[in-house]
Amino acid sequence: MNVILLGAPGAGKGTQAVRLAEKYNIPHISTGDIFRSNIKGQTPIGIVAKSYIDKGQLVPDEVTIQIVKERLEKEDCKNGYLLDGFPRTVSQAEALDTFSKVEAVVNVDVPLGKLLKRITGRRVCGKCGESYHVDYLNGKTDCAKCGAELIQRADDNEVTVASRLEVYEKQTAPLIEYYAQKGVLLTVDGDGDIEKVFNSICEKLG
Ligand code: ADP
Ligand code: ADP
Ligand code: ZN
Repeated sequence: MNVILLGAPGAGKGTQAVRLAEKYNIPHISTGDIFRSNIKGQTPIGIVAKSYIDKGQLVPDEVTIQIVKERLEKEDCKNGYLLDGFPRTVSQAEALDTFSKVEAVVNVDVPLGKLLKRITGRRVCGKCGESYHVDYLNGKTDCAKCGAELIQRADDNEVTVASRLEVYEKQTAPLIEYYAQKGVLLTVDGDGDIEKVFNSICEKLG
């Protein structure tokens, strides 16, 4: 099953992707995670990506598309994949259509007003990538899954978030219509608790 998770920053894509990848036994491919690991390793891609991510802008399409194309060619994607955070522009979606067949696009719908709090309160595991929210951590500072330290992403600050939400509205939201026209769009209310959202996605995916 070739699935895309679509949604604004903070909608819960990463949170759901981890659970869905486990249930459907397909790889979870997050372009944000790929960029962050390149930044950590100070690779040429990482150096380019950082200059955009720090400003809350999108990394250029040519760079991003090439990364995803190469990733989808790997053996573990033969039985499907779960893309989280790609595509984010119509050009990326058009490119993806030339090298893979998208079967389902899950749009995780969360009211704009709730996203800022989700993002600024987000803490992520520096090792396994699991997402948490300060409101539910009860002061804990390590990952419940693997024990590593939780960190706040450099781009999860109010200034960068404003730019990311604007970029989402302008460049990514048009993908909802793009995939609706192709007849593969599934919309899920992302404003419930994590378990409830997970169950609605599974129901829609069948
Ligand atoms: P995305 O990958 O779409 O940017 P995340 O999955 O990282 O979003 O979630 C953003 C923040 O919102 C995290 O702090 C996460 O713990 C929290 N979160 C995710 N899903 C829910 C939910 N259904 N209800 C409340 N908070 C959520
Ligand atoms: P979030 O879901 O919270 O927006 P991600 O981890 O998906 O965060 O992405 C972090 C940043 O990485 C984005 O703000 C953007 O700068 C860059 N990025 C991730 N995916 C893409 C993409 N498909 N195209 C361009 N830039 C991307
Ligand atoms: Zn962890």
